[in-house]
Amino acid sequence: MQIKLPPYVVEILDKFEKAGFEVYIVGGAVRNILMGRKPPDWDFTTNATPEEILKIFPDGFYDNSFGTVGISHKSSKKPYEITTFRREVGYSDKRHPDKIEWGKTLKEDLARRDFTINAMALDKGQKLTDPFGGQGDLKKKIIKAVGDPVKRFREDALRMMRAVRIAAELGFVITEATFEAIKMHADSIKHVSVERIHDELFRILASDYPYEGMAMLHNSGLMHQIIPEFEDGFGVEQKSPGRHHIYDVGTHSLLSLKNCPSTDPLVRFATLIHDIGKPQTRRVAKGGIITFYNHEVVGSRIAKVIADRLRFSKHDRDKLWMLVRRHQFVVDEKQTDSAIRRFIKNVGRENIQDMLDLRVGDRLGGGAKETSWRFEKFKKRIKEVQKQPFSVNDLKVDGKDVMKALGIKSGPKVGEILGKLFSEVEKDQKKNNKEYLLGRIKKYE
Ligand code: ATP
Ligand code: MG
Repeated sequence: MQIKLPPYVVEILDKFEKAGFEVYIVGGAVRNILMGRKPPDWDFTTNATPEEILKIFPDGFYDNSFGTVGISHKSSKKPYEITTFRREVGYSDKRHPDKIEWGKTLKEDLARRDFTINAMALDKGQKLTDPFGGQGDLKKKIIKAVGDPVKRFREDALRMMRAVRIAAELGFVITEATFEAIKMHADSIKHVSVERIHDELFRILASDYPYEGMAMLHNSGLMHQIIPEFEDGFGVEQKSPGRHHIYDVGTHSLLSLKNCPSTDPLVRFATLIHDIGKPQTRRVAKGGIITFYNHEVVGSRIAKVIADRLRFSKHDRDKLWMLVRRHQFVVDEKQTDSAIRRFIKNVGRENIQDMLDLRVGDRLGGGAKETSWRFEKFKKRIKEVQKQPFSVNDLKVDGKDVMKALGIKSGPKVGEILGKLFSEVEKDQKKNNKEYLLGRIKKYE
């Protein structure tokens, strides 16, 4: 597979060659080219040391912990990353090599890379160097560690999350030996910083195969380390006599994610953990009926604990809390306007679609066949109610009208009158017309 390399990539390759160094395209870019995709970013490896790279690219920035020089250029959002051939020696903290030694050859550098499909290099003429069978594994759609998987995950625990993430992004399967090694080392994920775990988790959730990704985290034991609360749902049966809930809580949660139409990683995560309060609230009532009263309240508290532990942004944390807290909303088109308005206020207009997407996942993930007519009608009602005045800001009169009509200055009285007008309009939206409201202002004086 040959592609036309972008001009700036060719320029980088040329500059190194002119200066007498070896240079290769490596990493995700090679993978993408071989799969016939356009690489979103470019990594290179060279026998030039960082100092020598900086002589060729004086504007480059050097991160001395990994021997990588970054080059920003208008042709790419992400910097071009150029790393000196490396070989690695010892990883006593299971995350960072104790020291970095420059490697002498390309092969040495490829041998320290994580997976066979990531351990290939292309030169300027697009000749492939592939010592570990990466191209074949790409065709077979498998993720396989370079060398002994047990040793590779012992060196760097982050590679376990990377394996799942890359598998989820590409729709690949992790080979048995590599997967078994992840199972064996899952508990060492605690050596990886929370920020990196958060980053990889969200990349898995944002990928094309979020369900498969989360299932891999579950099956490998990584989920047990990262979100033990989630694992509590497996084996928690929900079936009551005569009722049809077919899955236990954990399985239902995974299937809800699988069926959630949203592509937003946070909404997908909320869908995954929406029932996280169920294990703690499960009761068996008379006749063997199983109940989970208030599980959304308990669950939203657990969601907050998880969000804090994984250092979600405040926005993400609050939204996650809300989606879990409100996921039991009543779908009934016969509800009063004010009940529906309360729902919209609790969820927030900007989050309604996400809340509905969670519900679609929840329903389909519980074995329901399709969205019901009742759900469709409810969505229509939400749209209609949203067209109605929502707050004093939507009134056809404003503070200035009140001040003018009564000849008063701004102050609490103005807000009070607007509030009274709004409660009239809330009950009967036909009253939201200027003439009528101006007439009412005098009455409230
Ligand atoms: P993408 O950029 O799409 O995430 P990528 O494969 O380019 O995919 P990077 O994180 O940019 O991933 O890393 C570039 C390359 O560096 C990888 O392809 C892999 O060869 C190597 N690499 C990255 N992280 C590790 C690691 N923890 N252990 C071993 N090799 C790694
Ligand atoms: Mg990359």
